[in-house]
Amino acid sequence: TSEIPSDEAIAREATLDDIETVAARLGLAPDDIERYGSNKAKLTQSAVDAARERGRNGSLVLVTGITPTPKGEGKTVISVGLAQGLAHVGENVAVAVREPSLGPVFGIKGGAAGGGYSQVLPMEDINLHFTGDIHALTAAHNLVSAMLDAHIHHGNELDVDVDRISWKRSLDVNDRALRETVVGLGGSVNGPPREGGFGITAASELMAVLCLASDLPDLRRRVGRIVLASDHEGAPVTVDDIGATGAVSALLRDALRPNLVQTIEGVPAFVHGGPFANIAHGTNTLVADDVGLAHTDYLVTEAGFGADLGAEKFLDIVSREGAAPETVVVVATVRGLKRHGLDMWPADFDVLAKPDPDAVRDGLPNLFHHVNTIRDFGLPVVVAVNRFPDDTDAEVDAILDACETREIPAAVSTAHAEGGPGAAELAELVREQVESGHADLRPTYELDDSLREKITAVATRVYGAADVTFSKHAEKDLDRLAEHGFDSLPVCLSKTPYSLSDDASNTGVPTDWTLHVRELYPAAGAGFVVALTGDVMTMPGLPARPAALDIDVDDDGTIHGLF
Ligand code: ADP
Ligand code: MG
Repeated sequence: TSEIPSDEAIAREATLDDIETVAARLGLAPDDIERYGSNKAKLTQSAVDAARERGRNGSLVLVTGITPTPKGEGKTVISVGLAQGLAHVGENVAVAVREPSLGPVFGIKGGAAGGGYSQVLPMEDINLHFTGDIHALTAAHNLVSAMLDAHIHHGNELDVDVDRISWKRSLDVNDRALRETVVGLGGSVNGPPREGGFGITAASELMAVLCLASDLPDLRRRVGRIVLASDHEGAPVTVDDIGATGAVSALLRDALRPNLVQTIEGVPAFVHGGPFANIAHGTNTLVADDVGLAHTDYLVTEAGFGADLGAEKFLDIVSREGAAPETVVVVATVRGLKRHGLDMWPADFDVLAKPDPDAVRDGLPNLFHHVNTIRDFGLPVVVAVNRFPDDTDAEVDAILDACETREIPAAVSTAHAEGGPGAAELAELVREQVESGHADLRPTYELDDSLREKITAVATRVYGAADVTFSKHAEKDLDRLAEHGFDSLPVCLSKTPYSLSDDASNTGVPTDWTLHVRELYPAAGAGFVVALTGDVMTMPGLPARPAALDIDVDDDGTIHGLF
């Protein structure tokens, strides 16, 4: 129905600048980057150190969104588009996004490199092996697994309780058959046998560590703290305890240096890190943000899912150590709001494609809830209406009119179809808000609040829950976490992204509901406590018709089917 060529066709038509030219836009010299071919580079260690010394000069703009449909409402597209829009209105800008995981690339959602005329390139490389960071994480993760099992095999001096090992193995593929496994079969030469399992690499705590570490010494400290298991007394067994910290840090040395590529319009783009947003904070690396802010006036970055999840974690976890945004963009779509207005779950995209301005209007409370959340954090908000080709004027105006009535700055973005010029108005509004100097970040809780208070604050103030209950299991976890000194950490709540509540079918702005916390565990390396509110799958599965069926390579090496 749209006349816009496929992402792949657009990418193939694009002419890329040499990566040295892109680096020069950031004020970086050729020897500040280590080239991976013509269009990709990693920053050198000395360039990263020098950026640290310069400090953060630019303004951080965080892109978040309404409660999304499973297809996504275009936060990555808007992040890339807004960066291009800011460049278009004359600003010195870069964008920082996550590295795609092969799971979604071959699964349903596709890569996460933006789309249309707001993409990061070269998309084949970024979507596949890129600079090897994710492979390095897989290797490091499985080294820890092997060293832990070998320790147990060779006498188990640490008295690891094999029934209480939380560290799984990792692969960067959606493979449901590996969710639950038995390892150590084949007699005492291979054993002891025990139940285990695999998670996707993005879900590894090492990925969260990479994204939050400020430098190599900090990475090493965080790696060492990661809790792998309990001993028979219930005390944590860590990576330091099994002696793997040095080797893991060595494997991750290069992965910690940010990757530099470009958008389709030549705007510098950092594509670095990609934590699994369901159980971690879900944003690109703090190092990339800091390097970007040292070298630009504006850095645009994306937080996963709706503002209740990604933005809350960015503001309550990441900004305690990294930069705080000066303006937050909340992305809304006609189809996403319509889904809330029609109270629809699962999302039926054929129905959502039918024009229905009243349904859009009925869905608006979800947008305003997220806007208020950001305002409660003390930050200025701009709403970006991410316009799809089939959206009608009446539907788009329904959003703009309601924002105007409430005095919320809002602009339509057509950056997907038109690139930077399509986000020029959005860029102007963002610049106005940043220049207003009104940002004054107030986190949802203080670190010395109890874990229970922190979780209750997020549930009631950000999600709009009336109350929180803890299962018996969760109560025990709370006691154990306090006993081992983990109660001063921030909390990372795991919840469905498809509702403000913990029930995906509860659309709009659910009221009078109770958040149920099922289980808690320390992500001591990442530096937060994870609170699970539902079942979280850390190893996704492939659908009946995965994207992999459409991916191919020509005899001349041209790759097709990535999106
Ligand atoms: P998010 O980051 O919020 O999950 P993405 O930016 O990845 O969402 O967009 C989700 C999908 O929708 C991508 O395939 C993207 O190319 C597509 N998309 C986003 N915005 C538009 C638009 N305005 N028009 C057409 N397709 C779009
Ligand atoms: Mg995204």
